[in-house]
Amino acid sequence: MVKANGYGHGADWVAENIQDHVDGFGVARIEEAITLRAARPQHAIVLLGGLLDADTLALCAEKRIDLVIHTLEGAQLLANASLSSPLRVWLKMNTGMNRLGLNTMEFSRAHTLLSGSGNVSELIHMSHFSDAEVAGSDCTAQQYQALTTTSQALGTQPLSAANSAAIITHPNTHANWVRPGIMLYGDDPTTSLTGEQCLQAVMSFHSKVVAIHELEVGQGVGYNRRWRAGVPSRIATVAAGYGDGYPRHAPDGTPVLINGKVAPLAGRVSMDLLTVDISQDDNVKIGDAVTLWGKDLPAAEVARHCGTISYQLFTGISQRVARTYT
Ligand SMILES: *Cc1c(COP(=O)(O)O)cnc(C)c1O
Repeated sequence: MVKANGYGHGADWVAENIQDHVDGFGVARIEEAITLRAARPQHAIVLLGGLLDADTLALCAEKRIDLVIHTLEGAQLLANASLSSPLRVWLKMNTGMNRLGLNTMEFSRAHTLLSGSGNVSELIHMSHFSDAEVAGSDCTAQQYQALTTTSQALGTQPLSAANSAAIITHPNTHANWVRPGIMLYGDDPTTSLTGEQCLQAVMSFHSKVVAIHELEVGQGVGYNRRWRAGVPSRIATVAAGYGDGYPRHAPDGTPVLINGKVAPLAGRVSMDLLTVDISQDDNVKIGDAVTLWGKDLPAAEVARHCGTISYQLFTGISQRVARTYT
């Protein structure tokens, strides 16, 4: 899965680095599919479900982009189209996510319609799990059962269901195509991998200390002085803010690495700057290296403090942040 610009990492770079290890790429927007196709003429590219129209269909046929069909309307549009070449289709069943996908009866109808259509070169049956990262939930097993039962009644088709969490914790759902996303980027959504299986962060988000202030008891920091000094304190100002994709709602205490040591965020994040309590570290000086997340500070941990997930942090890195690829 390299949607949302490779989870914010740069889809071209990600695709180039993993191309020898994957059979295809998944994207969410036709624009992403077309850009990727220009750079990767050979790989399968799957366009996840969006609003299907005749233009998108024609583009997919021309560029050999696989389509996810998740409505009866979409299935009919495809069956009735006259395309330059047939498409590989991923027919999506709703097994409990209730976001995209056909119910059992619609799924069977769409399957019949599409398996007899000259516009379809291959049909893959797929679904998407709602709870695969939740330890102890039997939801994933039930969803997979619903997919396989309906699919088998319609013949023998390749199956696809597992996202990263299911890949890690539900190996019986791997089937023919797995769809790893976040795990490619070094986050384990199940927090269950240990030892040699631990994943490594791909993205590190860095900045520098640009100012240091000594505060007396009672003085505050930043907008509305949300954080107040209870004891004489030192505050480091870092050149990163919500304009770069650092979450504005990060609470005081969110970990920040300065010179490799953890210090707590102190005060509201502003557009270009954030502030950190460095009272516990006398050695910090202007120009010192800051890591907002990455190696030694998992994005998932920052995300947990902020009530979000690493996916949102990764995809939120803004345009103005300079990218360095190694
Ligand atoms: C994004 C996505 C995935 C990957 O999910 P991760 O949790 O990032 O592994 C898999 N399948 C579909 C349909 C998706 O939209």
